[in-house]
Amino acid sequence: MIQYKYYFLSLILVIADQLTKMMVLGSLELYESIEITSFFSLTHVHNYGAAFSFLADEDGWQQYFLVSISLASQVVYEQLCAQILEDTGLDPQYLKSGLLMMDEYDSDEAIAWMKRYNLNYQSHQQGALFSEIAQVRNPRLLKALKADIVNKGVKIIEHVKIEKLLIKNDKALGVVSSNKTYLADCVLACSGAWSSQWLDLKEEIFPMKGQMIVLKSKPDIVENIVLDQGRYIIPRQDGRILVGSTMQNVGFDRSTDDQTRKALHEFASQRFSSLANAQVEHHWSGFRPASKSAKVMLGKHAKFDNVFLNTGHFRNGINMAPESAKRITQLINHET
Ligand SMILES: Cc1cc2nc3c(=O)[nH]c(=O)nc-3n(C[C@H](O)[C@H](O)[C@H](O)COP(=O)(O)OP(=O)(O)OC[C@H]3O[C@@H](n4cnc5c(N)ncnc54)[C@H](O)[C@@H]3O)c2cc1C
Repeated sequence: MIQYKYYFLSLILVIADQLTKMMVLGSLELYESIEITSFFSLTHVHNYGAAFSFLADEDGWQQYFLVSISLASQVVYEQLCAQILEDTGLDPQYLKSGLLMMDEYDSDEAIAWMKRYNLNYQSHQQGALFSEIAQVRNPRLLKALKADIVNKGVKIIEHVKIEKLLIKNDKALGVVSSNKTYLADCVLACSGAWSSQWLDLKEEIFPMKGQMIVLKSKPDIVENIVLDQGRYIIPRQDGRILVGSTMQNVGFDRSTDDQTRKALHEFASQRFSSLANAQVEHHWSGFRPASKSAKVMLGKHAKFDNVFLNTGHFRNGINMAPESAKRITQLINHET
């Protein structure tokens, strides 16, 4: 009888899921949000990557482009992290913790996708385990990369807001802040969700807010990254556990709210009961650089030959960073 109850519950969830999808598709533009209550809103998003662009379902060349830069980046991350640890002494904590996917992996779309890209998983009692998937701690990675390039002689000017390009005869001569002009042979814009604030782009880039929490826990409570219902749990080496995230189309509003903190904590506790008592150490939000077409902008600016773009990576900017950087460098240096 209990079994039937669960089947019934699943059926209700499937029907509710389909109904809300139909409602959202019928009444909301892509990325439009409606607020249902003060803490619950619906946003129309397409699932371009359940697992770090793992199931990217873009059509045409962008699909192959996204997949190839994702996969190529995954290959170089291990070596890149080892190299910058050796050079700087700072450890980005690359960890092949594997990813346990609890839903979606057995859909027809996912199976066809994995077959096409030769991706394999092992069966797990709670889903599918992709043991090759790794993680990095991005704030540490950024700190290490910064130290590395400073050691190599790169000058970084921080806390300066660029207002616009300096243009003369259809060519960029540099960029302009509120009180200074910076001259340059070429300009590379990698300003994330803010890119449309100072650049005239073919397609608008806008922020898609995501809230996350960190739980203070012990190592070995969670073994693999867990992905379920669009949310994830990431176990760090020191026992901290990252739980994310929301998808909110609310502009540049950085605020976080108690309801989301509780919902993320509950999501983790339901899967690992000992996390119910873990302290929420940190709760914050960030902005993904989104666009309606969800196409990454990696290449030359449409109007200026010496302005380059590396933006619009949405949910996959960390994943795609090494390969995106390599390709844009090759383009700027005429190596392609
Ligand atoms: C909650 C959350 C979870 C995520 N999880 C993942 C994940 O698991 N895997 C993954 O691959 N990606 C993930 N992402 C997405 C990833 O963080 C982004 O795709 C990535 O940060 C985009 O990199 P970027 O360099 O283009 O932009 P950013 O990282 O946003 O950097 C842009 C920088 O440009 C600066 N800037 C902007 N405008 C100006 C200006 N006018 N003048 C000077 N400086 C300017 C900003 O201050 C900022 O420092 C996540 C994002 C969020 C919010």
